[in-house]
Amino acid sequence: MRIAIIGAGLAGLSAAYDLGRNGHQVTVFEGSPMVGGLAAGFKAPHWDWSLEKYYHHWFTSDAAMLGLIKELGWSDEVLFPRPFTVLFHEGQFYPADSIGTALKFFLKHYPITDVVRFGLVGAYLRLTPWWRPLEKVTAAAWLRRWAGPRIYDAVWKPMLVGKFGEQNVDIVNMAWFWARIKSRTTKLGTFVGGFQRFMDKFADVIRSQGTEIRLSATVTGVHKNTDGTLRIETVSESSDFDAVISTSSPALTARLAPGLPPAYTEKLQALRSMGAVVMVISLDRKLTPYYWHNVPKEAGFPFLALVEHTNFIPAEHYGGDTLIYCGDYLETDHEHFRMTKEQLLDRFLEAFPRFNPAFDRSWVKDSWLWKTTYAQPIPPVNHSRNVPDLRTPLHGLYFASMSQVYPWDRGTNYAVGIGRRVAKMVNEDFAGQ
Ligand SMILES: Cc1cc2nc3c(=O)[nH]c(=O)nc-3n(C[C@H](O)[C@H](O)[C@H](O)COP(=O)(O)OP(=O)(O)OC[C@H]3O[C@@H](n4cnc5c(N)ncnc54)[C@H](O)[C@@H]3O)c2cc1C
Repeated sequence: MRIAIIGAGLAGLSAAYDLGRNGHQVTVFEGSPMVGGLAAGFKAPHWDWSLEKYYHHWFTSDAAMLGLIKELGWSDEVLFPRPFTVLFHEGQFYPADSIGTALKFFLKHYPITDVVRFGLVGAYLRLTPWWRPLEKVTAAAWLRRWAGPRIYDAVWKPMLVGKFGEQNVDIVNMAWFWARIKSRTTKLGTFVGGFQRFMDKFADVIRSQGTEIRLSATVTGVHKNTDGTLRIETVSESSDFDAVISTSSPALTARLAPGLPPAYTEKLQALRSMGAVVMVISLDRKLTPYYWHNVPKEAGFPFLALVEHTNFIPAEHYGGDTLIYCGDYLETDHEHFRMTKEQLLDRFLEAFPRFNPAFDRSWVKDSWLWKTTYAQPIPPVNHSRNVPDLRTPLHGLYFASMSQVYPWDRGTNYAVGIGRRVAKMVNEDFAGQ
C-alpha cells in the first residue's frame, strides 16, 4: 500500500516507523527543513548538543515514549538528571522539587487544614482511575471546592492562568487537570545530545526501512480521486496514495481536505488551542541556581516560566553558555505574537533582576525566538464528545493530533501513542489489499 503521512513530528514518525515495518510504501511530507515538529531542536555552531526550541523533557511514566526508545535499543542514552524546581511566593522563590520541599513550603505559608486538603486532593487524583465524572466540571470549580479557595488562588489558579490565560480559566475541565497529576513525575528525562539527535536517529531508522521523508515539502491539499485514492499536493508536485495520515493541526487539516464532510470539518474547526512564544537567551554566566521557575502573571512577570536549562544539562555541552528559556502559552492574537525578537528581548530582560539582582545586560550573548500557533489544546467541560475520530469520514484519510490524546495532556509520549494507534488502524483497514 502507498501511504502518505503529513508531518514528521513524533506522531508522524511513529506512524511511519510501524507502517514501514509492515512493508508499506510510506512517504512522509514535512513542511519544515528538519524532522521533529514541536520537539525539534537547534544548535549554535559552538554547541555539542542541540537544544529544544521549546523546553522539553520526558517523565518516568512516559511508557509509550520510553517503550519506543527501548525497542530501538537506545535506553542507555536517556538521562534523568535531577531538576531543581522553585515556586514564586510573595517576592521569593521556594524549592518545590519533591514532596518534602513542597510540604515545607506549604506548612510555612498555609494553615494545616489547607495543607491536609492539598495532600488529600493530590492523593485522590493520583489514585483514582475515573476521569469521566471529572470532565463534567471545570478544574477551577472542582479545585476551589475540594482543595479550598486559598490553595486554589495561590497554587492552582496561577498554573491554569499561565497555561490557558485568564479568559479560559473557567473553561478547562477537571479531567485535564487529573491527567496532569496522574501522569507527571518529579524526575525529568532527556536524550544524550538533545531531542533533535533522537529525532534524527529515529528518522534514519525509518529511512532504512525504505520510507522516504521529504523535508521542506508543505502539503497544500488532499483530494479524492475518482478511483478512490487520495491525491497529495505540494507546491511543486502531486502524487497519489491509498491512505493519508494528517498529523497537522485540526484547523490546517480542515483546510487541506475540502472533501471532508461538513460535520467533521466543523468538529475540527471547533477545537480550540493556545499558541506558545518561547525565547531562548544565552548568557556568559549563571543567572540562578535553579532549573524551573514557575512565576505567576499577576506578580507582573512577562512570561509564565523561566527555565535555566543549564542547571539541568551542564553548560559544557553548549560551549559553556548559560541557556535560559522564557516561555509562555498565549492566545494567537496576543501582542507577543506580533513583537519582534528585539522588542521581546527588552521586555523579558527587564524581569531578570528579579531572578538575580546582579544581572546586567552585558551578560547576554545571543537570543532565539520561537513561536507556534498550535501548542496546547483547550479541553472544555464534556470534551470527550468533541474529540474527532482518527478515521475521518473521507475514506483513506486519517487524522492524528495533539487534540485527540485527551484526557491526557499533549506531550511526546502521547504523540508516539497516537501515531502508533493510527498506524495500527490503517494496517487493519487495508489488511489484505
Ligand atoms: C512550549 C511547549 C513545551 C512542551 N513541552 C513538552 C515536554 O516537556 N514534554 C513533552 O513530552 N512534550 C512537550 N510538548 C508537547 C510536544 O511537543 C507535542 O505533544 C508533540 O511534539 C506533538 O507531536 P506531533 O507529531 O503530534 O505534532 P508536531 O510536533 O506539531 O508535528 C507536526 C508536524 O507536521 C508538520 N506539518 C504541519 N502541517 C504540514 C503540512 N501542511 N505539510 C507538511 N508538514 C506539515 C509540522 O511542520 C510538524 O513538523 C511541548 C510543546 C510545547 C509547544
